[in-house]
Amino acid sequence: MISKNVLNKALEKIKQSKKNADLIANNNLQSALKNNEFNEIYKLEKQAQIETARCEVYGLNNSFNLDEIAKQKSEILKKLNIDESTLLPKYSCKKCDDTGYVNGKMCSCLKKLINEELYKQSGLNHKLNSFNKDDCKIFDDTKTMQQIYKTMQKWCNSPTSNYLNIILTGKTGVGKTHLMECMADDLIKNENIVFWTSAFNLNQLLLKYHTTFDETKLEYISNLLDADYLFIDDLGTEPILKNVTIEGLYNIIAERVENNKKTIISTNLNPEDIQNTYGERIFSRLLNKANSLCINIENKDLRLIKK
Ligand SMILES: [Zn+2]
Repeated sequence: MISKNVLNKALEKIKQSKKNADLIANNNLQSALKNNEFNEIYKLEKQAQIETARCEVYGLNNSFNLDEIAKQKSEILKKLNIDESTLLPKYSCKKCDDTGYVNGKMCSCLKKLINEELYKQSGLNHKLNSFNKDDCKIFDDTKTMQQIYKTMQKWCNSPTSNYLNIILTGKTGVGKTHLMECMADDLIKNENIVFWTSAFNLNQLLLKYHTTFDETKLEYISNLLDADYLFIDDLGTEPILKNVTIEGLYNIIAERVENNKKTIISTNLNPEDIQNTYGERIFSRLLNKANSLCINIENKDLRLIKK
């Protein structure tokens, strides 16, 4: 599961919105019930509903006509100038009636709230870039970048792709983060749960995990393990902490691969540097041709033109 803290915050918001909708509907109903005529038909309808259900269970004949009662009720409300729909809760999500789940699966509204919460925790404090055809105009080599953007957009929309890891290599300023933001934006729009972290922040989380010895330790890494898509920005800029950075990173990547979850990494390091810094195990996990796609945009002389 995604971090309890994130899930609870998201569920709390949904619960609140359900509570508000229920409260408003109930207030409207109570005020309508002050009218005697409506009060009577309302009680009659309740009684008829119970009786009808009972008759169905025991296979008995039912003397009530629910349709007729509903019709009478509507007429009374019309006379009172009350919009019947205001007596029912207006949930903000029609798919799940503000419960967060549809048939035991997370509803898109819950995923959206989880992403908002993850977004807050990620340290990204601006609106994400998004894919559009003008994107590449900011690069010198527009054609090559367009091709890369197209490939990445296609990958974002191919959840069954064999590529579990995307490694974007290249010097600072070639637009790796820009591209990753477009990808994150696209994935969030398609109802995936996305967690974004800088390599520096990732290192901090791994350190906290390593130095916590009670049941709360899992909170530090659950988003890293369980997000559908994990973005790690600027791998190689973090300090390598003994027993923490490399071991932690390996475990995260290995478990994500195991669970078919996708990871997108940007780095200034070339493959050789990755091997030297992180060792053979991480290197072979990340640059395994069967399930990783490594795109090097370093040699294309793509300088980001200052906006
Ligand atoms: Zn919903």
